[in-house]
Amino acid sequence: MTDSLEAAVRRAVDAVVDPELRRPIGELDMVRRVSVAGGVADVGIVLTIVGCPAADRISRDVRAAAASVDGISDVALDVGVMSADERRALTERLRGGRAAREMPFGPASLTRVIAVTSGKGGVGKSTVTANLAVGLAARGLAVGLIDADVHGFSIPGLLGLVAADGSVPQPTRIDDLMLPPVAHGVKVISIGMFLRRTGADAPLGAVAWRGPMLHRTVQQFLTDVYFGDLDVLLIDMPPGTGDVAISVGQLLPHADVLVVTTPQAAASDIAVRSGLVARQTGQRIAGVVENMAAMTLPDGSTLELFGSGGGAAVAAALSKGTDPVELLASIPLSPVLRADADAGIPAVVAHPDDPASIAIEGLAAMIAASPRGLSGRSLPIRPS
Ligand code: ADP
Repeated sequence: MTDSLEAAVRRAVDAVVDPELRRPIGELDMVRRVSVAGGVADVGIVLTIVGCPAADRISRDVRAAAASVDGISDVALDVGVMSADERRALTERLRGGRAAREMPFGPASLTRVIAVTSGKGGVGKSTVTANLAVGLAARGLAVGLIDADVHGFSIPGLLGLVAADGSVPQPTRIDDLMLPPVAHGVKVISIGMFLRRTGADAPLGAVAWRGPMLHRTVQQFLTDVYFGDLDVLLIDMPPGTGDVAISVGQLLPHADVLVVTTPQAAASDIAVRSGLVARQTGQRIAGVVENMAAMTLPDGSTLELFGSGGGAAVAAALSKGTDPVELLASIPLSPVLRADADAGIPAVVAHPDDPASIAIEGLAAMIAASPRGLSGRSLPIRPS
């Protein structure tokens, strides 16, 4: 009787999911012992590190899981910490047998890597990327997002990861493995999570790093962050054709590239250039996204603040002499999208009926519907 009760408690406790690793703690070897005497479950678990931020939640969940078993009247919980050897075994397991420092998103990976780039800043690349990531996660895909826009990182703010005091959550570390914070189902890592304030009221430091340091940072994001098995990894690239674009091109030559541009003719040339640089590194241009396109005003008229035709022009210019590149989405100007971005709630969540959200959802649907990479090459995304 006690045996099967013990087994039932063990099953319930094993199934508790570590909120950061997103795997059952039984699978992670975090459950030390389970015994039952006189209706009292005595449970011992170990956490990965001292002061693990998820400790309270795991403890609460373990207590609740054990207490939910019929016949258990009380739970005694003992929480310890893994030894260095146990942690090493765990990080090895999480790396899926890969050696430390090995990049999991190489050509053999099943993860579709999409680098989102633009010719210049301010075209809404980060806003589109954040909403796209959330839209893909809402479709049930496992999504990671690397904010590689080292000079103008904004992803943590866009996804509501910035606290009222301006602080950004740090990834939890298990030895040299970093666990990314999760927002709206998206695993997020950003350079903004590693910067220090110079004073209480000072803004997070601007990044004035040079090429080799940037390359190492991007490489570290790709190798040392535990994303688990991802369907899609989005990379919010810095605008233009600088060091990070070249590093990402070298590290991920099989990545797909989305080029974001405004409808303005003047923005087109420079957007084309950033697409061409990506292509030179071997990356495939999956398509063009036009943002800040015409919006319909309440009286039914349209406002083309940034003109029209830029997206189609960039797609046409990038199509020359090679595979056709298509305009995948045209996202209208939207005060709602802008306000939600400022508030740190993706518009696709807060205002799914907004025309900009609908356009981004359309893009997400297109990407979700296209197959994963085959032998490191993805099939083209096609507008439906
Ligand atoms: P980038 O990443 O290209 O520098 P951001 O995503 O930071 O650009 O966007 C720049 C500004 O434009 C932000 O204030 C954002 O809220 C706003 N924005 C982005 N897309 C739209 C849109 N479709 N309509 C209105 N405002 C937008």
